[in-house]
Amino acid sequence: MPHEESQITTDLDILAHLGDEYELYQGAVIPPIFMNSLHVTPKRDIDCESPRKYSYGRDSNPTTSVFERKLAALERAERALAFASGMAAISAALLANIKAGDHIVFVDTAYVPTRMFIQDELCAKFGLEATFITGDNIKEWEDATRANTTVYYLESPSSSVFSLQDLRAVSQLAKSRGIITIIDNSWATPLYQKPITLGIDLSVHTVSKYIGGHSDIIAGVVAGNEPLMSKVHQIRAIYGGILQPMEAWLATRGLRSLAVRLQAHEKSAGIVARRLEAHRRVLKVNYPGLDSHPQRELALRQMKGATSPLSFELDCDNTSARQFVKRLEWFNVGPSWGGFESMVSVPRDQSTLVRIHVGLEDVETLWNDLESSLDKIGE
Ligand SMILES: *Cc1c(COP(=O)(O)O)cnc(C)c1O
Repeated sequence: MPHEESQITTDLDILAHLGDEYELYQGAVIPPIFMNSLHVTPKRDIDCESPRKYSYGRDSNPTTSVFERKLAALERAERALAFASGMAAISAALLANIKAGDHIVFVDTAYVPTRMFIQDELCAKFGLEATFITGDNIKEWEDATRANTTVYYLESPSSSVFSLQDLRAVSQLAKSRGIITIIDNSWATPLYQKPITLGIDLSVHTVSKYIGGHSDIIAGVVAGNEPLMSKVHQIRAIYGGILQPMEAWLATRGLRSLAVRLQAHEKSAGIVARRLEAHRRVLKVNYPGLDSHPQRELALRQMKGATSPLSFELDCDNTSARQFVKRLEWFNVGPSWGGFESMVSVPRDQSTLVRIHVGLEDVETLWNDLESSLDKIGE
């Protein structure tokens, strides 16, 4: 194992060893869990200028810091802060950059609870204004911008339809107007997309999905540079949403296998997406990893790979689409993704849009399940 941090250069090095301070931890090959709420200050240090790094657990914790150091390095950011959920991270990133009377421009296909936070909390209760756009072209961002716009909120690829925003173009426009950019980078993970290097100010993730990776924790993270991260830290310390040490330890464990898990998800999702596209009952597949994706060129420019949530439109009515989902045996119905298990969402209202997460089960088993249910549509 490397002794100097300068020897840690690649993403895989970071996943494995950055922040694992073996000597400090008595040689423990995995960083231990600091399950304490408090670090006391030796009396001789009471009068000294720089206080201890760790003091109270709502502010910071050594186990949580290990995870944060790895995330900051992966995102090529100066600092990362971990939160008790993805929503705690998203709301903190927003709260750190807005005040009453400000205006936010927001991608309308982003994760629904984020939209609810902006609409039902910030706008309805605290006097913010928001404009919702598809985010597909830069003109839309320009047209939506007002004198009081302070934040552009991106999610690329977005939830359910997996559409992309041009991160470099949007961040350039934002910088020219003094606007802060925040992106939900959960789908791509910091391994496949590094928004900070493209000029975005803050990158947020749910850690409950791929980064945790085992459907056993709820967590989130914000990464970015100073002085913005100090503002995010202030929000975390006051609102109290820090990630707890046990969950941080599990998140760090998840990171160790993130790269190999993503390779497997990407491979299986590619196979499933191409076969879905060729099936007569499927009208359209929404997956940035397909050559037919309308923003494929942009996807290749700003992402290093594709992960596995994808969606498709069925050629049938809503009732038949719901029956299609009910017949599946290997896809669980549930509002999450990023774990070992394949998941499916139930099409709502008049929709025939089905979202799936292609898990790590045998891909032929998964495809046989999808195909046999597709073949039964209309029978
Ligand atoms: C699940 C999810 C979130 C919220 O994360 P939690 O950890 O559940 O709070 C945010 N963004 C996206 C894209 C998600 O899928």
